[in-house]
Amino acid sequence: MRSLIIAIDGPVGSGKSTLARRVAALMGYVYIDTGAMYRAVALKALRRGFPLDAADRLTALAGDTRIDLRAGDGTQRVFLDGEDVTAAIRTPDVAQGASKVAVVPGVRHVLVAEQRRAGAEGGVVMEGRDIGSVVFPDADLKIFLTASPEIRAQRRWREHQQKGDSIDLPRTLQEIHERDQRDSGRASSPLVRAEDAVMVDSTAMEPEEVARLVVMLARNQSPASAAR
Ligand code: C5P
Repeated sequence: MRSLIIAIDGPVGSGKSTLARRVAALMGYVYIDTGAMYRAVALKALRRGFPLDAADRLTALAGDTRIDLRAGDGTQRVFLDGEDVTAAIRTPDVAQGASKVAVVPGVRHVLVAEQRRAGAEGGVVMEGRDIGSVVFPDADLKIFLTASPEIRAQRRWREHQQKGDSIDLPRTLQEIHERDQRDSGRASSPLVRAEDAVMVDSTAMEPEEVARLVVMLARNQSPASAAR
């Protein structure tokens, strides 16, 4: 039986990464976090002091960048031109920067082509903002994951706290609103729910519940794989 392409989209803090990682583990699939690619380009641009609205320079930079996503023990490590930037791309500044470089159509063009190559064989759970709508419009299963902004801010704030970042909860909520607006309002591949995506609201659900639901949906797409 052919391996599926599972697309998971949704706003910041909806629980996409946790869900995608868990579904990939349960299905024996590869997990691909496309946000990490936008973050890696943003980190490189920030380090070089590029203005984050310089479309031509950012497009050229993206085209001249090597991003490797390597599966680890249940995690994904991110390499930017050979350097392990897994931790460096998780700062609030890089998050904001990523949502700015993601507005540039040329940057998206370069990264979407990479993502299509990475997922072409199937057996992947890919998460982002435009996976079901643009990267793989023919994905076998599309999930649009959401949760209330307050819950999303709390989740994100807890992650920042665990890493020792000093950002507070109101500022985190503000950051989420800003990124939501940029992600949903941009002209090029805005965050939208694909028509055929299954909408899942994780506000009142445990992560494991959501993962089991998605695996069940995936196995309904592909009954033969249920035996694995
Ligand atoms: O998912 P994550 O928060 O790591 O993504 C960082 C930023 O990258 C998002 O705010 C969004 O602007 C951008 N992004 C995107 N398309 C994707 C994945 C991420 O525009 N497929």
